[in-house]
Amino acid sequence: MSSLLTVGSVAFDAIETPFGKTDKIVGGAGTYISISASYFAKDQKIVSVVGGDFPKETIKFLEDKGVNTEGLQIKENEKTFFWSGKYHNDMNSRDTLVTELNVLEHFDPIIPESYQGVDYLMLGNLAPTVQRQVIERLTVRPKLIAMDTMNFWMDIMLDELKKTLKLIDILIINDEEARQLSGEYSLKVAAKKIIEMGPKYLIIKKGEHGALLFHGDKVFFAPALPLEVVFDPTGAGDTFAGGFIGYLAKTDDDSFENMKRAIVAGSAMASFCVEKFGTESIEYLQQQEIYDRMMEFVDLVNFNLEKSID
Ligand code: AMP
Repeated sequence: MSSLLTVGSVAFDAIETPFGKTDKIVGGAGTYISISASYFAKDQKIVSVVGGDFPKETIKFLEDKGVNTEGLQIKENEKTFFWSGKYHNDMNSRDTLVTELNVLEHFDPIIPESYQGVDYLMLGNLAPTVQRQVIERLTVRPKLIAMDTMNFWMDIMLDELKKTLKLIDILIINDEEARQLSGEYSLKVAAKKIIEMGPKYLIIKKGEHGALLFHGDKVFFAPALPLEVVFDPTGAGDTFAGGFIGYLAKTDDDSFENMKRAIVAGSAMASFCVEKFGTESIEYLQQQEIYDRMMEFVDLVNFNLEKSID
């Protein structure tokens, strides 16, 4: 079983959707990724930072999920990162209402000695300088480095982002971000340009329209499951990334064929995530329900072209 290191925010979120709103609840990219990956990767570690106000029971919960939290720094006299967002009626777009960096402002990603030699690395959405620091601080390069980023870093740190892109294997972004990063509208052309920037693989998430995987001239598409309930999309992208990288770490196979299965694992996890507020719907899943949901994806796209079209 390969080991997985996740680096990402562990946060408080306040979310407003057309269906309701929450007070401060636990969120953060690192949280969603780790919980989601825990259903696949059994040897997991996290590097992040929280303030003294962060609930100890959540840290215990992560540990119970098999996540080693030695690299989760607790700054007793500071406050945890806080993010607040409000979704529009279509649930596809949202406005960020508040971002209080707090402990993330001067985050120094310290890698515990026991984490060295980790096989897989998932860099959640953070400053590209911090993401690069993590890669540089690992004494042995992981077998596979995947990374998420967002428009914000393209706007204010594009050169730093481009330097980090040269060091990674898989970039996971959404369609809007792919268009901004490449300056191209066609996602196929955008993918070609982004792959020239460094990553060998590119995953473009299209929300309720699924996800595309690009590698050289190959393309794979996985739809999103049509769901009756989409309650809160927060963290769906991170949950996707966690399922994806967790599946790769579990199977330890980075072939294109296996990446297709990993994309379906990520998509299945994301489909659970959106069903309730925050991390609630992914906290206690059974392996069988995850497998059944992955099979729903297979059924959704499987067909036989038996009849000739002559
Ligand atoms: P997603 O819905 O997948 O884009 O991720 C939402 C999560 O990202 C929330 O739980 C936030 O706490 C976290 N988040 C939002 N903005 C940032 C940021 N600038 N840096 C790190 N994490 C963030």
